Amino acid sequence: MNSKIIIHGGFFSESGTNNEVKIAKQEALTEIIKKSSSYLKTHSALQTVIYAVSLLEDCPLFNAGLGSQIQSDGKIRLSASLMDGKSQKFSGVINIEDVKNAIQVAEKLMSEEDRVLSGSGALEYARQNGFEYFNPETPQRRKEYEEKLNASIGLGTVGCVALDKDGNIAAGTSTGGKGFEIPGRVSDSATVAGNFANSSAGISCTGVGEDIVSAGLSVKIVTRVTDGMSLEDASRKSFEELKPYDGFAGIIGISSTGEIYHCDSHPYMVWAAYDKEMSVFS
Ligand code: ASP
Repeated sequence: MNSKIIIHGGFFSESGTNNEVKIAKQEALTEIIKKSSSYLKTHSALQTVIYAVSLLEDCPLFNAGLGSQIQSDGKIRLSASLMDGKSQKFSGVINIEDVKNAIQVAEKLMSEEDRVLSGSGALEYARQNGFEYFNPETPQRRKEYEEKLNASIGLGTVGCVALDKDGNIAAGTSTGGKGFEIPGRVSDSATVAGNFANSSAGISCTGVGEDIVSAGLSVKIVTRVTDGMSLEDASRKSFEELKPYDGFAGIIGISSTGEIYHCDSHPYMVWAAYDKEMSVFS
């Protein structure tokens, strides 16, 4: 089986027409997909998703990990989840503060009975497991916060779906949220609406969390693929269902047959895939 991987950097933030930001994000995605696709040759889909999402979190251009959006009370809270299509295990953290890589806390939780933790419980768990203090704020995000830029143009979540040579699929998604949200708001990214995988397909979402949760988007697409639809048909049908409420979402996905697919309801989502050759689109 040929291994395959697709990553995304969400809908590009700051300005829908800022070409410089778009190019910088595409360059970052190109570098990360190159590293991650070569990592996938010798690692499982799950290990590779953790690796790729960690690199995306470490890049300040994206709204995950370093460079995350600031919430309405001036604090950054991260949400991330991981799903192993082989074991069907889902793990995640919701609104965790002051850690560098939320996806790695989700990784640690994979081996626990209680696999999704939020807020102070997630932070305490992280500290007990060696995750040190890290402030993910950048001057750019503070400037945006101070200028009170509107949340709706700040989407830049990250995600990865990988299919390894043994045919296993995994998905991971990480976000700083939508920006300026009420503290306590729960993003889709650490739910099965925003991130899901089984032995048939894996999906990672970005967009407006409330719309993605209303659609149950990731799990719905994966279920349709499991029941026999192609990834493209399953995604298109699910995106049709977003239209009555003008749902704002984008997805990346891979099926067990090796189909790679991306679609979005609005332009400017950035993503990159590695199949036989590399491609970056926005
Ligand atoms: N889905 C994320 C949220 O609503 C935001 C994003 O994808 O950029 O928190």
